[in-house]
Formats: sequence, C-alpha cells, structure tokens
Amino acid sequence: MSRLIIFALSALLGLSQPVSQVAAPRPLYEFTIQIDYAAHRLEAAQRVTLPNSSGQPSSDVLFKVPAADTPGVFDLHSVEVAGVPITYTWNGTALRVTLPTVLQPDRAIVLDLKFVVNVPPLENAQSFAAANLAYTSDALNLGYWYPLLAPYRDGWVNVPFEPIGDPFASEVADYLATITAPADVTVVGGGELDRRGNIWKYALPRARTFALIASPRYRASTTRFGGVTYSVFMLPEHQSLATITLETLIRAKTLFSAIYGPYPYKTLRLAEVSGPWSMEFSGLFTVGETDIADYNGTPRNRLIRVTAHEVSHQWWYGVVGDNQVREPWLDEGFARFNELRYYEVYSPADTQWWWDTVIGTLRAAQPLNSGTADFSDHRTYLTSIYNQGAVFLDDLRSTIGANAFNAFLRDLYRRGSFRLITTQDFFDILKNHTEVNVQGLKARYFR
Ligand SMILES: [Zn+2]
Repeated sequence: MSRLIIFALSALLGLSQPVSQVAAPRPLYEFTIQIDYAAHRLEAAQRVTLPNSSGQPSSDVLFKVPAADTPGVFDLHSVEVAGVPITYTWNGTALRVTLPTVLQPDRAIVLDLKFVVNVPPLENAQSFAAANLAYTSDALNLGYWYPLLAPYRDGWVNVPFEPIGDPFASEVADYLATITAPADVTVVGGGELDRRGNIWKYALPRARTFALIASPRYRASTTRFGGVTYSVFMLPEHQSLATITLETLIRAKTLFSAIYGPYPYKTLRLAEVSGPWSMEFSGLFTVGETDIADYNGTPRNRLIRVTAHEVSHQWWYGVVGDNQVREPWLDEGFARFNELRYYEVYSPADTQWWWDTVIGTLRAAQPLNSGTADFSDHRTYLTSIYNQGAVFLDDLRSTIGANAFNAFLRDLYRRGSFRLITTQDFFDILKNHTEVNVQGLKARYFR
C-alpha cells in the first residue's frame, strides 16, 4: 500500500494535502475509534480517500448510514475536506456530501468525518439489521456502524434501508482501523491485527465492509492452517466448543477455496453474540449463542451448519458481492446451498437430514429474484430467498451436470471477484458453460 507510505511521509513532513490527488484503484477508509464500552458508545474519526472511477466529473458523494435509521444513534459532528467544513444533507439514512470542487475522473478526494455512535440495546432480536448494531449484556455488536460509500452506477445507488433481510450494498474498499478500548475488552475485527495493549490496529484490504465486535467476556482460541490464522471468540459458557468450531471453520474454508477459488485474507474470525442471528462481514462473522448452543456432538446441528453457511459468505457476499436489497438470493441462496455442499463432502450420511430439516417441503411465496421490499416477514423471506435459492442451485447442478456447474461457479467467482454481480450476470456467464436449455428452469424460479 504505497499510498499509505505517501500519507505517512506527507504527515511527517507537514505537507498540506491537495484537495484532489491521483486516484488509487479503490476507496480507502481510515478509522480512529474510541470505544466507551460501559456507555455503549464509540467516538470515531473516519478519513475516506475516494477515487473517482466513474469516468464522469463528480460534484457530490453519497454515503449510506444504516445507524442513522434510529433517532439518537448516529451523531455526525463534521465533514471536512483539507480541514474546511463542507455542506451535507440527510435524507433518511442517506448522507449526501457536496464536494468543494468538481472531482475529475481518475482523481481522488480525501473526506474527513467525525461522529459518535450511541449503540442501542438489542430490542428486536428478530431483525437482522437491528441485531447488527446493538449491545447486549455480553458484547457490543458493531456492524454497519459507519458512513458507507454507496455503489456508483451512472449515479449513486441509494439502497433503501428495509426492515427485512440485510439492507446493505457496497463496493469493496481498503480499511485501516485504530481502536482504543478499555483494557479488559477484546476487540474483534476483520483483517490483520497489530495489538499494542489496549490499542487494536486492523488492516483489511479489499473488503465489502468492516465490522467490530467487542466484549470483556471473550475466550479466544486460535490455530493456523494452510497459511490462514483462524480464531474463535466464545463466551465462557461455550469455550468447550471452540475446538469443534475451529475444525468446522478450517473444513469450510478448505472446501470453498477448492470449489470456488481463493480466500483473500490471512485471517478468519468468528465471534459469538447473544441472540438468535448470525451475520457475515469481511474476514469476520458472528454466530448467535442459540446456534452455538444447538451443538449435540453430531454434525446435525446449527453450530456446524450455520458456521459453514457464514464461512461461505466470504466467497458469496464478501469477494463476489451483490445488491442485498434488490437480489439477495445471490448471496443467501448460495450460502444456504453451501451448507448442503459442506454436508455432501464432510458427512454425506447427513444430507437427507439437511433436506428434511432445513428445506422440508419448499413453499416459496415469491420468485427467487425478489427484493427485500417484497416481503413483510422473515419466515417468508427465508423460504423464498435462502431455501428456494439452494433448491434452484441444486436443480441447476442436476440439469447441467456437476462438472459444468462447478466450472461455471468458478468462472462466476473469478469474474465477479471484488465486484457486485446481478442475476443477469449469473445467466450470461452460465451460457458459456452449458449447451443445455435452462429456460424452463429459469421460468420456474424467476419472474
Ligand atoms: Zn446468510
């Protein structure tokens, strides 16, 4: 990251930053964060170095701030360019910043934001979005806690904040974070960690998003395998399950690397959180304590199944992204299907159990390419998107044959890496891998 060295040098020499500079290939987020664990509060400075790769001059920037959905949670103090405050407007969770000068193509601008997040208690445990950014008696869950650049497609894409599903979409960016926390609090993030006492520095390149989970109760277990460091952070009551959880992480990572393509990071972390939901972030995911406590000494439980599901999101969601509001099947249908693939390889005797207990008799209320706005309850959403997605992918595999199917998904992974894919991309790339007519299949699942 040579531009980091340039920043460090210019800071050292006291050089003032020009308003725009030559663009790097991706945005860079640099965070300086103070966590007040007892007050469930964090104070953050966020520097964003934003390249204009749109090919068009740009006069504004759109950030999505999911934390701003609940009044009193997100408190923006300032937005500055080169030390000068600039104007911004709010529209729901959309924060639009007006640039002081037009940003030309292939130039970059540095924005400095300062804000406070007053993390709310976990009240609606049924909502994924609410469970992302919440505190419990066990941990501070900091998912989607910061202003996140919106994707750009001939204009900024303002993804609505919906109560169902994961209402987020973002392009990949590089992340550097320096976090100061109370001495007894473990701060779990994605990426490479350099810890000095109570100062935690994470570096996470090419990431979909950067999340943190903090807790004074964590018991850490770490192992290295095949060039990756795996860590699980369990609450003390589940520390005895660290070994089986690490084993599942390694197996899942090994499998998905083999069938789809390389995992991009040197670390993979799992943090247990209170409540029923598990959630993916880049290089890190959470598993709800009810999923962990489901372990029964056999492969037939949610600890194994959900861990495999969440690990697979590193491939589908993380590396290959999608608009999770418009076409969530492209990550959740894949993740559900990858649970099956895990059982097929590691405990084939349990695949029928998976079909019976997870899928049962599929009664999808909506086509597979529905968006979160098409649903009013979680159960219908899970059936139509997660379960129907897995059934469709399994059906496609049977229709075109396993070899063509595997070659197709490797190709989709390679071409979709560090991008956002669409259902259209899925079928366009599929055409290169099979002569079989899939129109009937497509018509059965898609609108
Ligand atoms: Zn998922």
